[in-house]
Amino acid sequence: MGKVTGFMEYGRLEEGYKPPAERLKHYKEFVVGLDESQAKIQGARCMDCGIPFCNNGCPVNNIIPDFNDLVYRGDWQNAIEVLHSTNNFPEFTGRICPAPCEAACTLNVSDLPVGIKSIEHAIIDRAWDEGWVKPRVAKHKTGKKVAVVGSGPAGLAAAQQLARAGHDVTLFEKNDRVGGLLRYGIPDFKMEKSHIDRRVEQMTAEGVTFRTGVMVGAAKDPLGKGSKVTNWAKDTVTPEQLQKDFDAVVLTGGAEQSRDLPVPGRDLDGIHFAMEFLPQQNKVNAGDKVKGQLRADGKKVIVIGGGDTGSDCVGTSNRHGAVSVTQFEVMPQPPEEENRPMTWPYWPIKLRTSSSHEEGCEREFAISTKEFIGEKGKVTGLKTVRVEFKDGKLVEIPGTEVVMQADLVLLAMGFVSPVANVLDAFGIDKDARGNAKASTDFTGGYATNVPKVFAAGDIRRGQSLVVWAIREGRQAARAVDEFLMGYSDLPR
Ligand SMILES: Cc1cc2nc3c(=O)[nH]c(=O)nc-3n(C[C@H](O)[C@H](O)[C@H](O)COP(=O)(O)OP(=O)(O)OC[C@H]3O[C@@H](n4cnc5c(N)ncnc54)[C@H](O)[C@@H]3O)c2cc1C
Ligand code: SF4
Repeated sequence: MGKVTGFMEYGRLEEGYKPPAERLKHYKEFVVGLDESQAKIQGARCMDCGIPFCNNGCPVNNIIPDFNDLVYRGDWQNAIEVLHSTNNFPEFTGRICPAPCEAACTLNVSDLPVGIKSIEHAIIDRAWDEGWVKPRVAKHKTGKKVAVVGSGPAGLAAAQQLARAGHDVTLFEKNDRVGGLLRYGIPDFKMEKSHIDRRVEQMTAEGVTFRTGVMVGAAKDPLGKGSKVTNWAKDTVTPEQLQKDFDAVVLTGGAEQSRDLPVPGRDLDGIHFAMEFLPQQNKVNAGDKVKGQLRADGKKVIVIGGGDTGSDCVGTSNRHGAVSVTQFEVMPQPPEEENRPMTWPYWPIKLRTSSSHEEGCEREFAISTKEFIGEKGKVTGLKTVRVEFKDGKLVEIPGTEVVMQADLVLLAMGFVSPVANVLDAFGIDKDARGNAKASTDFTGGYATNVPKVFAAGDIRRGQSLVVWAIREGRQAARAVDEFLMGYSDLPR
């Protein structure tokens, strides 16, 4: 266990950020990670408290006390072994996971949890630097063929696990590059894309075949008419073809249908989904030309939606050079501090201020948009009203209507479901929210109602987190392996 008295001797040290004035000039990562000696001290703070709530708080069940101890003892090579035993891609989670493990840490009872995420970040970055991350090629091939549809974290994790179990895996992706929302949702300043490219190289060496620019679905109109969902596919493969050519199919297509705000004026120019805006900047960062790129330069930007996606729109708009950026959240402002005895070890609802907020942003809570106002077909403002909870319902507060100016409105109110046409093309049953219906227990094992077709990640659970997608991809891989071979040695 770390150092017996470490938690009493050492304070929590957060990773640093480069100053806003400097980081706003580019789209590169700006987090300054822990160095070796800092990570050692942070590892020493772990109490190995008997019941590791952190391990349960982490969706991939990272064996956190063990890697904390190994870092404290300077055994970094075993630390990465332990970390990789539960998490295929710690460089993703070490950068962008909200770290529910830290909310669950026993030291969080006194508000100073172990910096688990920063230690994870330090371990994997060092492992790559030292050349310890190598392809793990299966010793025996099974002769079974598996198609994975969608290359986000769920698809990547499933594909890597299945290839390591000896299956021939082909990963289909409709976009022009691999990575799902890691590639075309999350901005480069939160996670640079070279991290994905490195894993693609590793997985290619492990035998995964990547087929980008291929849409899996109905030959005609696979995403639905007028869909704004990203699609750079040049080729289409039908479900029937996949079912004929492969022994199993894993659907990991995400939950891409953005929630709309169908109030009067919605069809004015200058109102866009976040997922029209963010992917374009990531493409430009990758060296592509985007004709007529949506840009925020010189504009008054209003972002509707107070979550991560909204925050990413704030950071990108500020990098473009917006005149002002305001973010709306319909819910009331949460408290700055949670009532810890009531919430620990669970994820608390509290005010969270992201690095993008710190770069410049007005935040408005308990506000709702009634109408978009425009001139000559272009948005110029929003008619808003304040709201409050009454009898468990959000209601408008009379007399609080105002018009706020905006020339660019970004809708970041979450995602309602997967794109229905893709599921319909396979004949997959949906749950009440329109997600692929498949249970995660040992008997159901991610299987859908369609023989040999499985579903994992956001397409099954709805819009969630990268770490949940990795967990589901890993568990679905084990279920597929069992289905194909009758047993599986893959971890669940
Ligand atoms: C802007 C934004 C920021 C976010 N920030 C964070 C964050 O900081 N931390 C965090 O943990 N989570 C974050 N999330 C959530 C996280 O990115 C998702 O929960 C996660 O990526 C889901 O993984 P997935 O593999 O299930 O699906 P996705 O990442 O959505 O990948 C699905 C892939 O499938 C492809 N696809 C879909 N249909 C087809 C088809 N028919 N044929 C071929 N390919 C298809 C899509 O093109 C896509 O590439 C963010 C989400 C957004 C939108
Ligand atoms: S993956 Fe997320 S929850 Fe799990 S240990 Fe890492 S930061 Fe914590």
